[in-house]
Amino acid sequence: MATPPFGPVRLLVLQPTPFCNLDCDYCYLPNRDDRSRLSLEILEAALERVLESPYVNGGFTLLWHAGEPLTVPIAFYDAATECIRQALARRGLPPETIVQSLQTNATVIDAAWCDCFIRNGIHVGVSMDGPAFLHDAHRRTRTGLGSHGATMRGIGWLQRRGIPFQVICVLTADALDHADTLFDFFSGHGINTVGFNMEETEGENAQSTLERPDGERRYKLFLERFWQRMAEQPGLLRLREFDGIASLACSDERLQNTDMNAPFMIVNVDARGNVSTFDPELLSVQTEEYGDFSFGNVLQHSLAELADTDKFQRVLAEISSGVERCRQSCAYFGLCGGGAGSNKYWEHGTFDCSVTQHCRYRIQLVADVVLDGMEKQLGLTAA
Ligand code: SF4
Repeated sequence: MATPPFGPVRLLVLQPTPFCNLDCDYCYLPNRDDRSRLSLEILEAALERVLESPYVNGGFTLLWHAGEPLTVPIAFYDAATECIRQALARRGLPPETIVQSLQTNATVIDAAWCDCFIRNGIHVGVSMDGPAFLHDAHRRTRTGLGSHGATMRGIGWLQRRGIPFQVICVLTADALDHADTLFDFFSGHGINTVGFNMEETEGENAQSTLERPDGERRYKLFLERFWQRMAEQPGLLRLREFDGIASLACSDERLQNTDMNAPFMIVNVDARGNVSTFDPELLSVQTEEYGDFSFGNVLQHSLAELADTDKFQRVLAEISSGVERCRQSCAYFGLCGGGAGSNKYWEHGTFDCSVTQHCRYRIQLVADVVLDGMEKQLGLTAA
């Protein structure tokens, strides 16, 4: 039976429901109309499977994600928090072993939800795309209405209640000419921690708007302008992409892998108890070659049993070979760790490959801008 060095588990992604109250046109998730819900029985089983596994070493984050987590009732999170507390207590582990977090479109956040976050110690991430003309172009309801107003109302509640949050902003092609607008929007609304997710060709989203000949050039100009604004007005905004590359560049640390391509650093469980590992985006998609990327179900299988399945071993071998290709061929490997399997699979039909459009945007172009900007700040190259 497979045992460490897999893990350690750093993230347990749980799907409270596949349902989402929005219908964003770039969403990769299937089954967004499916209102099924994670039961407490499955939650308890998922916690037990992780805590009993040989892959746990220390604490981890439990992320409620994939579907809109706030379309289940507040009472669900109260019951879930109690379930987590009991699971930890049974093993003599302190409550802080598991930190809860969720990623929401914020459209239904109100006073009662804020109370729930505070009461249950749930950290909040908000998905929103900046000003209304960018946000509402893609983030719409099923009847085609923009969601910007509702999202900003939810953000207002978080801010009034002093609940910290980060924003994930999806960049589509139409955002790339608006670096100043986005910087001014976020900093002007007191949103000081932002991550850019590039629109991806993945799952239900058959083609990203960034797959255009001038996409990379425009994105690099966008990033350079964002870097410049952050240098001109330091302290207003932190950008996840710049922070990640800059902290590695300033240290001796170089990555050998990522949580996305190393087994059981991330464990993903859907609302029916199906369980997977590697990156969370793999759990919700179907492919011709593998079917889905579920390796078992928490109601029947331990994590170590999953690791012994043929499917897991095939996926692991293919992902590992792809990481090795990256290590051998890519100058950015130490800043990247070999990328995410889902993007490799969706772009090339295999995990056993290296460069993708996603890694060009997420790692390589960001690294070029950050390293160039740092050199200029040090006066090593012309400003
Ligand atoms: S940047 Fe791309 S090609 Fe380079 S290591 Fe990362 S995933 Fe591989």
